[in-house]
Amino acid sequence: MTIMRLVMLPEARYISALTYKDIIMSMYDLRVQAAKAGLKHFQGPACVKGHDGKRFTSNGGCCECSRIRSQVYQQGIRDILAANKNQA
Ligand SMILES: [Zn+2]
Repeated sequence: MTIMRLVMLPEARYISALTYKDIIMSMYDLRVQAAKAGLKHFQGPACVKGHDGKRFTSNGGCCECSRIRSQVYQQGIRDILAANKNQA
């Protein structure tokens, strides 16, 4: 079964592009090559959010998505610490 994903780009346009499975399968050989070369990153297909395709060899995840998630998480923690500091 194939599930089509609707992807929202920053410009708020909708595209029905590659399925998640298509993306994973299309980069399998690239990941194997990168792993054999000992590379931590490789150039793969663009992610569903439209980033340029730099991905981690270890899990195939998008580097830019990972960076953004990490930033959002860290900011959330900073906000909680700042709110608690004001209460004390
Ligand atoms: Zn991404």
